[in-house]
Amino acid sequence: MEILDYDVVILGSGIAGFSAAVHASHASEGKARVAVISKLHAMRSHSVAAEGGLSGVLHPKKGRDTLDSHAYDTVKGSDFLADQDAVEELVKHAPEEIKFFEHLGVPWHREDNGDVSARAFGGMSTPRTVFAEDKTGFFMMRALYDEITSLKNVDIFHEHFATKLMLHKNRFLGIYTIDLGDGSARVFSGKSCIIATGGFSRIFSFTTTSHSCTGDGIALAYEAGLPLKDMEFTQFHPTAMVPSGILITEAARGEGGYLKDKRGDRFMSNYAKSVMELAPRDIVSRAIVTEIARGNGILHKESGLEYVNLDLRHLGEQTLDERLPMIKEIAMKMLNINPSEEQIPVRPAAHFTMGGIHTDIDGQVQRADGKGGVDGLWAAGEAGCVSVHGANRLGSNSLSQCAVWGRKTGYAAAKHARRTKAGKEEYGRMFEKQVERERGRLAALMGREDGVDPYALRDGMYEVTGRYLYVYRNMRGMRAAKKALSRLKAMLPRMVVRDKSQIYNTNLRDTLEINNLIRLADIVAACAMRRKESRGAHAVREHPKRDDANWLKHTLIYNSIFGQRVTYSPVKITKWTPVERHY
Ligand SMILES: Cc1cc2nc3c(=O)[nH]c(=O)nc-3n(C[C@H](O)[C@H](O)[C@H](O)COP(=O)(O)OP(=O)(O)OC[C@H]3O[C@@H](n4cnc5c(N)ncnc54)[C@H](O)[C@@H]3O)c2cc1C
Repeated sequence: MEILDYDVVILGSGIAGFSAAVHASHASEGKARVAVISKLHAMRSHSVAAEGGLSGVLHPKKGRDTLDSHAYDTVKGSDFLADQDAVEELVKHAPEEIKFFEHLGVPWHREDNGDVSARAFGGMSTPRTVFAEDKTGFFMMRALYDEITSLKNVDIFHEHFATKLMLHKNRFLGIYTIDLGDGSARVFSGKSCIIATGGFSRIFSFTTTSHSCTGDGIALAYEAGLPLKDMEFTQFHPTAMVPSGILITEAARGEGGYLKDKRGDRFMSNYAKSVMELAPRDIVSRAIVTEIARGNGILHKESGLEYVNLDLRHLGEQTLDERLPMIKEIAMKMLNINPSEEQIPVRPAAHFTMGGIHTDIDGQVQRADGKGGVDGLWAAGEAGCVSVHGANRLGSNSLSQCAVWGRKTGYAAAKHARRTKAGKEEYGRMFEKQVERERGRLAALMGREDGVDPYALRDGMYEVTGRYLYVYRNMRGMRAAKKALSRLKAMLPRMVVRDKSQIYNTNLRDTLEINNLIRLADIVAACAMRRKESRGAHAVREHPKRDDANWLKHTLIYNSIFGQRVTYSPVKITKWTPVERHY
């Protein structure tokens, strides 16, 4: 087994992880040794799929836009659960990030006068989403990858699957990984670590996200005893293509697309009269599900899914070609539909997880006992919950979050590494002990000849999450979900990996991911069934209203010696008193 020692270990190579790596390198003037670990080839990270753009107030005068306006839209969109100090930090630094990516070579779309263009997005009171066609994530990733490969102090470990986060006495020790290429173990020790492993929307079967969005880093943090925050809030994107679930970006509505029911009516007038299709995603998703339940959907015969139509025909060929070329290509390739002539069938799909590893405003991972941060550990991007999205994220705010907290955590991790001496002997002993324990656990998993089929457990999870934890929830359903998921969780230690080979063992990888997914789904149910109100993406039939008196608070869940523990922490309010949302 190889043990590698780095100053900064970054788990994840999406926009958050890559940004962190670039800034850790810059902050140390190329001196800190940085490792980026990715279970995929880095350029296959989910971030390459980001489509519509990145938010930020770039032209305050022209758009009569302000940082406060971006912040208020975000806070209101979050249904007032976002921490307002963190939101202010997001909007303050997002414009710098747009310029930074411009310098790295992202080809932002421009107006004829040379200004970077901005498009409208749901819940944003003015157009402030910059974009590179409808392939924004791909262009940002490519720019970061080019930059990183030119940095001599950053090493990328592609296709290394992390199975354990090692801590001792609230201090980061290292990460245990399997090199998927040959099945060998490779362990990383480091002074600082940033977890940037993305979200976990794959707990649902109908999702816009990549197969890799299995929340591994979040599950590893939980297993290490760290608290997770606001796990009940999953965002359902209103316009996932039927039947595949492939995303049709919100930019399609930002450019003027309509949602229509089977009679051809623009039903959003009944739900958000002033902004119509550009209401926040939670509202639009509920509207679609409500219309379908009223019999105004259309049945997709092969899949049995009901849908509404996204009508882009009036936008014209030129707008589609210039501003939404990938959407056109996807519709044509997947459904043989030319969106300038026909409507696209859509319905809500799991898209983004607002919850994640509990961090403070600097992205530092917090301890379960509430006594501050874990020494040398940060989380960034969708894996972390710094709480800028609260109960419902606004579209295009995630890429800004990845960039802003990628930079912040990269700087902080490099600084921490510089002033940290090598570990005491005690830490070395603990490191070896934990490595041995993890090696034993994985050997036992691979050695098991008989047991439970992981894929059957995954199908069981899909059945439960799709039925009970979708756009609308009810108390009985959430309790049933918790019971069923706890049962599935209890079977995890008996999972069997049939394929015993060492070289790129996808059966082993899937089993490890399923282990994480089912644990996270169980946590989602545990948090959801306790929150007796409707807020943002968490809509409960018996409690249809938001209840600030009792529930204006974050949910925290952690793994104690007594099992799952749930506590709550206050929401930070700086300027904006919660009011009822109207659009
Ligand atoms: C289709 C789609 C389009 C979107 N478009 C937009 C948009 O236009 N604007 C916007 O703001 N947001 C958008 N989002 C959301 C946004 O794309 C994500 O929130 C963001 O890209 C997450 O980036 P990340 O760096 O946190 O994680 P990811 O990009 O998900 O990267 C996670 C990384 O962690 C690694 N990893 C995970 N587990 C392990 C493990 N066990 N061991 C080792 N490595 C591991 C992976 O290999 C990967 O490198 C979109 C989401 C979807 C689904």
